[in-house]
Amino acid sequence: MLKDFISPFDATVVKILQDSGADIIGKTNCDEFGMGSLNIHSTHGPVKNPVGLYQVNGLVEERSAGGSSGGSAAAVAAGICKAALGTDTGGSVRLPASYCGIVGLKPSYGLVSRWGVISYADSLDCVGVLATDVQTTKQVFDQIALYDELDPTSAPNEIRAKAFKHIEERTVHKEGAVGILKGLRVGIPQEYFPSEMSPSIIQHVRRVISKLKEHGAEVISVSLPSTSYALSSYYVLATAEASSNLARYDGVQYGSYVKPPPGTELTKTSKIYAHTRTTNFGKEVQKRILLGTYALSAEYAQRIRQLICDDFNGVFAIPNYFSDLIERQQELNGQCVDVLIHPSAIRTAPLLSEAKTTGPNLDTYLQDVLTVPASLSGLPALSIPVNIDNDEHTKLQNEIRWPIGISIVGQWGTDQLVLSVGAAME
Ligand code: GLN
Repeated sequence: MLKDFISPFDATVVKILQDSGADIIGKTNCDEFGMGSLNIHSTHGPVKNPVGLYQVNGLVEERSAGGSSGGSAAAVAAGICKAALGTDTGGSVRLPASYCGIVGLKPSYGLVSRWGVISYADSLDCVGVLATDVQTTKQVFDQIALYDELDPTSAPNEIRAKAFKHIEERTVHKEGAVGILKGLRVGIPQEYFPSEMSPSIIQHVRRVISKLKEHGAEVISVSLPSTSYALSSYYVLATAEASSNLARYDGVQYGSYVKPPPGTELTKTSKIYAHTRTTNFGKEVQKRILLGTYALSAEYAQRIRQLICDDFNGVFAIPNYFSDLIERQQELNGQCVDVLIHPSAIRTAPLLSEAKTTGPNLDTYLQDVLTVPASLSGLPALSIPVNIDNDEHTKLQNEIRWPIGISIVGQWGTDQLVLSVGAAME
């Protein structure tokens, strides 16, 4: 749809990075309009995961780099750049980061400007950072997390200041990077280990938890009971917002116009743009528009979204300053943790040959099951690669070691805390 479109201006985030001296070396592939989890719905073709392409033992496996910001993750993982930007509506920065073995941050909703970003679902869309390590992720995030009057959803400075004040003391490092783990209350949400999760992932998460304990963290099992509704709520809300956002691409105002075939009766305006939309939108995008148009239960999805927010607000010790329901949060607050930790994905990168581009693909949607709750609640979430130690590597000798990601989720505005915990765990 936007093949011939060249933006007349730069997004705020791009401008900030350029003004700070960064070299923008290119644009990366992604799923069309950010819709997908495997980067297979792109007019440029799928993104191959670099981990499977450069193995020393001669094995080559074409696996997905994850999506939708798969090109950004692949570029970082292949060493083409140190950091890249992506958008994360329901996991599109964290999932590719996890599949490619790099770091991916979805910041708190509203901290990074979306001016110049093509909307998928405005109430969820966030610009995120993908990088080789937490330090580089933080470096980029620190530059771009600024109030922008051009973005109506940009969090005002007063609200940022309130949330930041709460974590200032916590993030002052004592005894090196791991010092932050001492006395840190880490919640492990029970609901984030669904039956579909691969057992090797659980094993690695266990090891990470033991390490956290060794460094003095208090590990607490918590419950977020509405988690099982998050995926359905997400897909109803995201597609409903998308169908409305994508209505502007009609070939008249936006998007390349495709002339209807001869003989088409053009008395109705819908006939003029129907052909453009049918030709120019990919199959997955068309499916989402139809789903969203029929999403008459959006009101219920919205209520479920509130339950998911309540779940998080009930476990975090720090209140959510972005929500106007602070009193309600105090009522809910029972379990009190500083951060939550859980696997970023239920599996490692899927084979591209098994990825379906058409037809029902609920399996693909299922891959977002662990990332959408933080999106629905606007919370910061950082995916870092789990270190797979040498012993295990030796055991797996003739197999490619596919990366596993672990996510750290914090209360709204505690991105610096989440980054500090990530740096301590690296
Ligand atoms: N996979 C999810 C979707 O297709 C998330 C996409 C995203 O975060 N852009 O909606």
